[in-house]
Amino acid sequence: MNHSKDMKLVRSVAEMQQLAQQWKKAGETVALVPTMGFLHEGHLALVDLAHSHADRVVASIYVNPTQFGANEDLDAYPRDEQGDLEKLASRGVDATFLPSSDEMYPNGAQTFVELKHLPHHLCGLSRPSHFRGVATVCTKLFHAVRADIAVFGEKDYQQLLVIRKMSEDLLLPIQIIGAPIVREEDGLARSSRNIYLTPSERGQALALHRALQHAQARYQQSSTTIAEIESEVTDIILESGGEIDYVAIVDDQNLTRLQSKNPSARALVAARYGKARLIDNMALTANP
Ligand code: AMP
Repeated sequence: MNHSKDMKLVRSVAEMQQLAQQWKKAGETVALVPTMGFLHEGHLALVDLAHSHADRVVASIYVNPTQFGANEDLDAYPRDEQGDLEKLASRGVDATFLPSSDEMYPNGAQTFVELKHLPHHLCGLSRPSHFRGVATVCTKLFHAVRADIAVFGEKDYQQLLVIRKMSEDLLLPIQIIGAPIVREEDGLARSSRNIYLTPSERGQALALHRALQHAQARYQQSSTTIAEIESEVTDIILESGGEIDYVAIVDDQNLTRLQSKNPSARALVAARYGKARLIDNMALTANP
């Protein structure tokens, strides 16, 4: 089915809120899928999941400056508005919200959302203001879209926890749904940033998934320790030529490093291959 004629393009917050209000008056629920565009199957799987939870689905495309550090890839971040709109229309999205920074941060905005503990692990250590930007923009997007539900990928696992906790803390009337990681056939997690990889770097980057699978297999062996598994994962990534940001096996709720095996373990990795900083993660189960 071609849905493209039905999809609305909305660039202002006021228009977005009005549209959502109309839907709500008709008794319909609204799900939001926030993205930074340059869409791939990982994003579109979130759209499919959103459809199964709400009457109306809104995707947002906004490359949020406040979540990029000074030396990060804000200006280089890949964009393809036309291609994105075609993909979203073909997946039956009701509206795509494409705000400008003037809409999202009006009149020199002064208010930011900051969490106390969750950002001080993993990605937050090398990207100190990242989650402040993410939490702030998501709060704004939730209000702009009047979303009842928002869908986030487990690919950005720390982000998913940050958004869940922020929504709980701020009493936001929204349900946060997590979606599994979508991978290429060879295991590489789909990411807009994969475009930065040269063909040989792309081959090297397969080590991230391979290392996580190794972690999962070793986690199931009763004799292994967390420290041993972390060290083996580190070696696999280093041998592939990756420059490691972190390798960590953590409690999957509070992100603190595990000392010993427990049922809520997750392995998370971040490494740089050439210009691309890639992240990936996997739940570790003792008895799959
Ligand atoms: P981004 O455009 O990178 O900000 O991502 C927007 C949303 O898509 C976030 O909730 C991501 O976690 C999710 N996402 C990105 N890549 C994947 C993937 N490979 N599988 C599942 N979700 C993803």
